[in-house]
Amino acid sequence: MSSHALLSASSASRRINCPPSARLAEKYEDRGSSYAAEGTDAHALCEYKLKAALGMEACPDPVVLVEQRVDFSRWVREGFGTADCIVIADGTLQVIDFKYGLGVLVAAEANPQMMCYALGTLDAFDGIYDIERVRMTIYQPRRDNLSTAEPPKAELLKWADEVLKPAADLAYAGEGKPACGEWCAFCKAKSACRARAEANLELARHEFRLPPLLTDEEVEDILAKVDGLVSWVSDIKEYALQQAIGGKQWHGFKLVEGRSNRRYVNDEAVAEAVLQAGFEPYERRLLGITAMQKMLGKARFDEALAGLVEKPQGKPTLVPESDKRPAMNNAKEDFNDNEGEHHV
Ligand code: SF4
Repeated sequence: MSSHALLSASSASRRINCPPSARLAEKYEDRGSSYAAEGTDAHALCEYKLKAALGMEACPDPVVLVEQRVDFSRWVREGFGTADCIVIADGTLQVIDFKYGLGVLVAAEANPQMMCYALGTLDAFDGIYDIERVRMTIYQPRRDNLSTAEPPKAELLKWADEVLKPAADLAYAGEGKPACGEWCAFCKAKSACRARAEANLELARHEFRLPPLLTDEEVEDILAKVDGLVSWVSDIKEYALQQAIGGKQWHGFKLVEGRSNRRYVNDEAVAEAVLQAGFEPYERRLLGITAMQKMLGKARFDEALAGLVEKPQGKPTLVPESDKRPAMNNAKEDFNDNEGEHHV
């Protein structure tokens, strides 16, 4: 869950990696997004279901807290957040966070947001419940992702003192060295940030030579950075466009109308007019697979269309080694496999 603290738990990762981002982002208005609104609704539904299932109110042991405000200001000045669900039982503190997003797969391991929630809970409850173990779980249903980590309590507290607190102090003071990385994605300063621009323009040192002139190492280096470059370029374009719409003049640029296509004003009136003219306005088209399955129901769809639906192999995509999908055979490996078969 997000909160509106300057140093919120959800921005902990960015703040640790780039402490000045907290103050830089303050200058920009929070424009929200449809994804955030969708996430808020999904959280409200979860909260309702969980509380209803627990028959909330009386639940002495285990302790279950839903949408609980946690305060970790012992390490992060004015730091607080809202943990989706906290369970304390048998010496174990379990912090659960619900992620509704589809875009980024979120892991619980070394996740600063979860660690902040765990720290806030420890700070409030350790004295009362004698917590020995800390378990952090992220549930991201739309990515089939259930990720759990169990950081030793002593290590968590050490991290809080040695990493979280120093970074938070710098962030609060608006100091520290800006550092660019995947955490820039949700930083409000991301479009006009100089550090991000410099990091991305670094790629220009390859002088845009074509691959045959680059070494394998240089191509690997570019591959690792190119997604960040693409998103930076599109952030800059969007930022400049929004400013121009708002009245800013960029030297050498002007706003023009983009290309647009003709469209019907009223579909029914068009169909009626074409029928009147003696023509058939509609074409017959097969329903798409999703719509067809919805109409027939899964069982009847499977039975009636057995052997008539296939799933072609997906287009090869080059992704970092850390991607969860299994590696596919390349052309060379396929060739070697076939060679082997001939010799058997
Ligand atoms: S865009 Fe990235 S580098 Fe710049 S302030 Fe934000 S997090 Fe730091």
